[in-house]
Amino acid sequence: MKLPDIKILDEFDKVLRNKSKEVPFPLSSEDLKLINDSLNYLEMSQMDEYREKYNLRAGMGLSFIQLGIPKRIFVISEEIEENKFNRYVVINPKIKSKSEELIFVGEGEGCLSVNREVEGIVPRNARITVEAYDEKGDFFEIRVREDMSVAFQHEIDHLNGVIFIDKIDKNNPYKNRTLMREI
Ligand code: ZN
Repeated sequence: MKLPDIKILDEFDKVLRNKSKEVPFPLSSEDLKLINDSLNYLEMSQMDEYREKYNLRAGMGLSFIQLGIPKRIFVISEEIEENKFNRYVVINPKIKSKSEELIFVGEGEGCLSVNREVEGIVPRNARITVEAYDEKGDFFEIRVREDMSVAFQHEIDHLNGVIFIDKIDKNNPYKNRTLMREI
């Protein structure tokens, strides 16, 4: 497999701070290709063979704004068993409901645009329900929980110009830890 030719913007690039715009359907062939390339890239980054070969950092989610394109599109690929993946293509998402319970990822969140270790707690809702469209323009509703809920919230933040590091209190990175459940 050849590594898709995509360029991921770094956290210091101001383009990442744009609020992305809703996307009309049908999608252009360029956008469809980019969705597919992004998913392939994410999957290769999660496979030992390709991660080593291409010196990649593992990632499970990517938003179009990280490729410099301010459209409300993100993709997630979750490894469910060795080298087998579940794909999510999420366009124009709206969060319909959120659990009150908050969680955080104990080892810290990661982002393909943040090329350093960042310590601290990023509060996330344990469960959310999202309405969105897939790449064909078909409407769907999905309820996600735990790490997938974190991944969705992380990517939806990107669509609004927000990066996870914004949500960490610099002076007290583990603030309110006891009020949240670690996952
Ligand atoms: Zn990210």
